[in-house]
Amino acid sequence: MKKNGISHPAWIEVDLEQFRKNLQVIRGRIGKRLLCLPLKANAYGHGLVPMALAAEEFGVDVIAVSCLKEGAELRRAGVRSPILVFGAIHEEQIGDLIEHGLEFSLSSKFKAELVAKKCREKELQCSVHLEVDTGMRRTGMRPETALTLFEELKRHECFRIRGIYSHLATADEPADPFAYRQIEAFAQLREKIGSEGLVWHLANSGGVSFYPESYFDMVRPGLLCYGLTPNGSEEGELRPLFSLKAKVSYFKVVGGGEGISYGHIYKTKEQTRVVTVPVGYGDGYSRSLSNRAKVLIRGRLFGVAGRICMDQFMVDVGKEEVYVGDEVTLIGRQGEHEISLWDIARMAETDPREILCHFNDRIPRYYVRDR
Ligand SMILES: *Cc1c(COP(=O)(O)O)cnc(C)c1O
Repeated sequence: MKKNGISHPAWIEVDLEQFRKNLQVIRGRIGKRLLCLPLKANAYGHGLVPMALAAEEFGVDVIAVSCLKEGAELRRAGVRSPILVFGAIHEEQIGDLIEHGLEFSLSSKFKAELVAKKCREKELQCSVHLEVDTGMRRTGMRPETALTLFEELKRHECFRIRGIYSHLATADEPADPFAYRQIEAFAQLREKIGSEGLVWHLANSGGVSFYPESYFDMVRPGLLCYGLTPNGSEEGELRPLFSLKAKVSYFKVVGGGEGISYGHIYKTKEQTRVVTVPVGYGDGYSRSLSNRAKVLIRGRLFGVAGRICMDQFMVDVGKEEVYVGDEVTLIGRQGEHEISLWDIARMAETDPREILCHFNDRIPRYYVRDR
């Protein structure tokens, strides 16, 4: 596959048609509420700018990022949609946040005063969301503090208070008692402050999947928009967009009882055929998948043989015919089989979000529109 005229034997495919379908499915579920798409950490590894442009085209209402850097990159790429920065802001970022027209989170009176000062200096207004901590204990004010700060900020010329939000800590499984307590605490604050002109938002993917009571005025599902569910269960029409593929780069025959790759943690039983795949942990294919993960070649599953190296790994294909140049699917569907991100995440004893985030820019990404 070629990108910018340079050929590379491994690539990520992102299915934008499936992305559009996933957004439609989620829209169907949330009715008239707003849809905010989290595009942080390189859009969960799918590629920040291309995913933002697709999201704008498909009519996402708000884009969310983690920090100024991601937001500024989107503005530079011509993204016009409202962009909300989730993470806590730092004093030296305030000027740029305002000038790039980014909406950002306020979680303290101290930061609010710094922002007000900067706005006066620049004679500009800014759009903010107040963040309330209802149980995540990460960023966000206690509900009482949020109530007081809201009253104060209303009197300032410079603040346009767009919304009030909080984050669920335990919603990745259904019927969690603490998730209901967070929803209840958030609803109570809304009773006190009122909904007039404000966007109240709480639901992440877990909220959208399992807690319709958490929808309020806007939802912020990340993982779910990329077609993965928060607990690995099947969910209706949602399908992943992400595939990782490569071409076999080398073939050899190895005798019985021989070790393969660093440390020889894999030993052949009898004479066998071994192929090399040009992807490694230097691309984000975790070393913890060594001797565990499977790949698909010619519609059949084969195991990774030995340690995954920085740039390549080996596969024992037994007596099967596999040739240099054959397509290998590391993540995704080939023929009747699928290697899902959840399969890979479980093998690496982590979450699919982390697996996705680790793929860096050495592997080119291709955006597929229809198939
Ligand atoms: C990352 C994030 C989300 C999305 O989380 P998912 O579980 O992937 O849906 C939503 N809200 C906030 C504040 C986040 O940081």
